[in-house]
Amino acid sequence: MTGIRREVTILGATGSIGISTLDVIRRNVNAFSVFALTANSNVETMLEQCLEIKPRFAVMRNEEAAAKLSDLLKQAEEPGIEVLAGEAGLNLVASHADVDDVVAAIVGGAGLKPTMAAVEAGKKILLANKESLVMSGRLFMEAVEKNQAMLLPVDSEHNAIFQCLANGASSHAGGVRKIMLTGSGGPFLRRPLESFADVTPAQACAHPNWSMGQKISVDSATMMNKGLELIEAKWLFDVSPDQIEFVIHPQSVVHSMVEYDDGAVVAQLGQPDMRTPIAHTLAWPERIDSGVPALDFMSMSKLEFEAADLERFPCLELARRAAEGPQSYSIALNAANEIAVQAFLDELIGFADIPIVNKTVLDDTGGAEPATIDEVLTIDADARKSALQLIEQIKSQPNRSGRQERA
Ligand code: NAD
Ligand code: MG
Repeated sequence: MTGIRREVTILGATGSIGISTLDVIRRNVNAFSVFALTANSNVETMLEQCLEIKPRFAVMRNEEAAAKLSDLLKQAEEPGIEVLAGEAGLNLVASHADVDDVVAAIVGGAGLKPTMAAVEAGKKILLANKESLVMSGRLFMEAVEKNQAMLLPVDSEHNAIFQCLANGASSHAGGVRKIMLTGSGGPFLRRPLESFADVTPAQACAHPNWSMGQKISVDSATMMNKGLELIEAKWLFDVSPDQIEFVIHPQSVVHSMVEYDDGAVVAQLGQPDMRTPIAHTLAWPERIDSGVPALDFMSMSKLEFEAADLERFPCLELARRAAEGPQSYSIALNAANEIAVQAFLDELIGFADIPIVNKTVLDDTGGAEPATIDEVLTIDADARKSALQLIEQIKSQPNRSGRQERA
């Protein structure tokens, strides 16, 4: 890459995507400079990152964590790094005039406001935080257009689709018939369905191919992740949900495919390593080193493809329903899922309860098209409340404390 260095803010720097982003930037220090790092409460990792990277700003969402980080930086005689706290701090570094690129890598609905702040400031946004787009769909895309922001998908499937589309992001440019969203099927593709109630958080987080944060790992195990990705693809590429097909591909080598009217299918292949899509979006339209080795086709045994089993993965159907329905359905499904996944990780409900919570909340949600982000957040808050109530009921059922006891 040539020219002056681009100033990058990483929202969610201490997470899986944040850490991979820093790894790519380290390999390309002549092209990128880190303007700000943000995290929720992980002071230890943030301190380490600050001492190495020396950003202009470090933001902790949690106020106590910010105070602690500030003290530690003073002790380390690092006065050049300004520590900010809370949502205001996140919004400031997402929209600051000196920032070029914003990596949106906060997990969950917490990423919505800071990501929107970057959109409204017309930044180049590298979007990993799919939940923000799932929640606010049309509003998000309209804001991108209005503010002339540039939206590039980091999510590996969407990044693959972006690369497979002839003219960048638009599906309208050249006779797109279908988008095939590939997914490995996660750790439970072959696990007997009867044993789903016994799944532990550790088992659900042990993805066979990808190393990711806990929430998206559980989403991969229920395949809610692929469902959220259907909604994400609908908005990113302006296609109707019935043009998007789920394809199970256990090896995670083909990251997604686009089928054209003339019968051509274009696929993007690579190692299951997020540094590839991160490097692609950082450098686009150029290419830079990501540290990811190329595929070795000679040592690859086989590539398999199969249909998704909707009985095994009911979240896929729920997401399709949400994608075809009004915006409130996607907001409610995403909110219920975040609450259910956290309750599962906290061992309050079983793995098989996650789709039950998601379905019940979705079933109870009325149709609405929010006109503002505040309206989105109101629907989100209501759905979270319903999910929490449902979890209380599930917990109080006899023989159901956390994982189900065996009969
Ligand atoms: P993670 O849990 O590893 O990291 C999340 C980051 O967000 C951390 O830095 C954390 O401090 C921050 N954070 C958490 N809660 C916050 C809050 N309330 N306010 C502010 N910051 C908060 O998650 P991850 O796996 O890196 O995923 C991040 C996003 O990227 C998710 O939306 C996920 O769906 C998406 N994504 C991840 C991968 C992957 O391989 N990990 C792939 C595709 C998409
Ligand atoms: Mg993905």
